[in-house]
Amino acid sequence: MDRDRCLALDAEDPLRAFRDEFVLPEGVVYLVGNSLGAPPRRAAERVRQAVEDEWGTHLVGGWNESGWYAQPLTVGDRLAPLIGAGPGQVVVGNTTSIAVYQAVSAAVGLRPDRRVIVLDRSNFPTDNYMVASLPGYEVRDFSEGRFDDAAVVLLSEVDYRTGARYDVPEITARVQAAGALMVWDVCHSVGAMQVDVSAADFAVGCTYKYLNGGPGAPAFLYVNPRHQAEARNVLPGWYSHAEPFAFQTGFSPAEGIRRFTVSTPHVLSFAALEAALDVWERVPMDQIRAKSIALTSLFVDLVGDRLELASPRDPLRRGSQVSFYHPDGYPVMRALIDRGVHGDFRAPDILRFGFAPLYTRYVDVFDAATILDEVLEKELWRDEKYAQRLAVT
Ligand SMILES: *Cc1c(COP(=O)(O)O)cnc(C)c1O
Repeated sequence: MDRDRCLALDAEDPLRAFRDEFVLPEGVVYLVGNSLGAPPRRAAERVRQAVEDEWGTHLVGGWNESGWYAQPLTVGDRLAPLIGAGPGQVVVGNTTSIAVYQAVSAAVGLRPDRRVIVLDRSNFPTDNYMVASLPGYEVRDFSEGRFDDAAVVLLSEVDYRTGARYDVPEITARVQAAGALMVWDVCHSVGAMQVDVSAADFAVGCTYKYLNGGPGAPAFLYVNPRHQAEARNVLPGWYSHAEPFAFQTGFSPAEGIRRFTVSTPHVLSFAALEAALDVWERVPMDQIRAKSIALTSLFVDLVGDRLELASPRDPLRRGSQVSFYHPDGYPVMRALIDRGVHGDFRAPDILRFGFAPLYTRYVDVFDAATILDEVLEKELWRDEKYAQRLAVT
């Protein structure tokens, strides 16, 4: 595969026009869309509109006039198709960590006779910290494969470090057959492939990674309709109340998905997220997955045996990222970033490259592999200036 062939692949890419809908600095190969997606070109205008045309025009009336009050539900309905859900099944707000806490708390509440929570020790740590904060539960690793006494199983569809992907329908069915509830975290799969959590009991995810909702964009929580009447929201705020504006002294939960909202939505963050969803509504997800597989496979091939692959070699068993082990991963990544190739480093020894199919080109993959090769071949990462750790890696 040479550079010209990559340019030809870009020219015939059915998704090529979407790149123009994003702001990407010149001279940068951005392979961190799995951590913070690039800004949709329309995001700035949408946020300006929210500030000037909505806030500046209606002031407090914006809660009614501009639909702010309903945002957690209306944006939830817009997002639902991306995870295989329907209207009235998804709320948007808060953060993924909070949504994990809500989902797992609600799920264990539905299995009061069971005291075991099954998870991956390698889950994104915040998910497991949230579980560990629930008093009175034994935590078991998923690799033990035993669910018959488990209340809940919490897993990420795609592993944030290695990109390994679980078989969602198969595991969901196995967990539920054992009488446990299934909670999926789809942070690293939503926007990278068609996700379908419709059989799961609960699901959570964030909107600032592949979905491009912007830094600090709100998270989402899916609650299967079969649980909505019975499940409890562990963080009942005034938005979760049946009548928020009755200001009653006692709490009675709203019907339906609104029960799982907590309180005031982050209106300006929602505005940027809506600009991203305006794009997603036009994206054919089968093409996203096909391109993701092509990009990641190309990168694996180009890097070859220069580095040890940490991701599954079978593209069907990974998400849209490729990770490699390197004992000096941190300075290697800093040297790459210095040369315009932006990936990230995950402790202790992982170089991570995410390929957001909406705006990543084949030629980007080629250039990234070429520069990586040079950094390794000439040991450019040994320069002392790359050794010092920044606060965010
Ligand atoms: C990115 C990510 C999070 C982030 O949680 P926040 O509460 O939004 O900071 C949580 N879980 C997983 C699996 C993630 O990939």
